[in-house]
Amino acid sequence: MTRLLKPLVLGQNYEFARDMLCRKLNLFADAFVAIDGSKFKAVNNRDRNFTKAKMRRRLQQIDESIERYLGQMASADRQESEVAQTKVQRLEDKIKALKKEMSRLKKLEVRLLEAPDQQISLTDPDARSMATSGRGTGMVGYNVQTAVDTKNHLVVAHEVTNVGHDRAQLFNMAQQAKEAVGAEELEVVADRGYFKGEEILECENAGITTYLPKPQTSGSQAEGRFGKRDFRYIPEDDEYECPGGERLIWRFRTQEKGQTMNKYWSSACPRCKIKSQCTPSPYRRVTRWEHESVLENLEARLDKEPERMRVRRQTSEHPFGTLKSWMGSTHFQMKTLKHVNTEMSLHVLAYNLKRVINILGARPLIEAIRA
Ligand code: SF4
Repeated sequence: MTRLLKPLVLGQNYEFARDMLCRKLNLFADAFVAIDGSKFKAVNNRDRNFTKAKMRRRLQQIDESIERYLGQMASADRQESEVAQTKVQRLEDKIKALKKEMSRLKKLEVRLLEAPDQQISLTDPDARSMATSGRGTGMVGYNVQTAVDTKNHLVVAHEVTNVGHDRAQLFNMAQQAKEAVGAEELEVVADRGYFKGEEILECENAGITTYLPKPQTSGSQAEGRFGKRDFRYIPEDDEYECPGGERLIWRFRTQEKGQTMNKYWSSACPRCKIKSQCTPSPYRRVTRWEHESVLENLEARLDKEPERMRVRRQTSEHPFGTLKSWMGSTHFQMKTLKHVNTEMSLHVLAYNLKRVINILGARPLIEAIRA
């Protein structure tokens, strides 16, 4: 078996070999994948990673400790006993050690401020501080992205990144999955962390149908007033109809964070009877991205097929859970993004092989590799 797999592992094109094999065995038949990311720990200990906030906190703690010791020294100095003098000496040593630590941290701070993302990791320079889903459970590590086939739970594509969020990963992962599956069209499901208009548009343009919920960011809705969903867009007129039955007409076009936005409002707002449920401002303005229809179509698709989100949960959690249990509590053993990526590839290869053996049995797999 090892002899058969060696060329796959050592060859530059192991992913290509995997994709060809899985396609030959008809294991990617559904062309429907779940994209998800999970944080994996790096070799780098939390104490050897510094962000601006962490550095500020550490320096402040040292300052406070020095102040406290100086106070204790002053009161010990006032007593003339031998015990007090020994205490003074001990406190002097502690202050000396703290000043040394402060000077070390100040030097690191200079390096930290020069880093593009104002963060440094001393053991693995590419590892980054990342928030995890549990409250106060951040880690220093990597964000592993996977696209998993929803039928057989095989990892179709994966990539290790050191960016702590998933917002810019949807198209990248979907495109890699589409190439691996070898289908003209692909359907992908992801969680709301991937929701970004430009990414969804790129998928649409590449023949990739997306299913992901929109994050709730409407301030009005959070405060109990009408949300944007309560305003119906009328494409033929390029106008919105509001809950009060008035038309919000197009007013002007503007650029916001690199996106072209259209602004709409109605002149009827000041006289509106339900205005308190709508806006505290003189007029309720609605903003529409020039490609908003792509997002509206996505929302309609998800309303029609809400069970897609259940499929996402059932699909992504299995490989991540299995991989983490194999890797143990320390996760990665290698350092730097390049080597960590290779380490992950080997884990994914092992995971996929075990899955295929479970699905088909070892003999048919060996025969397919040989053929
Ligand atoms: S405040 Fe303006 S937008 Fe809101 S319901 Fe009234 S008329 Fe419509």
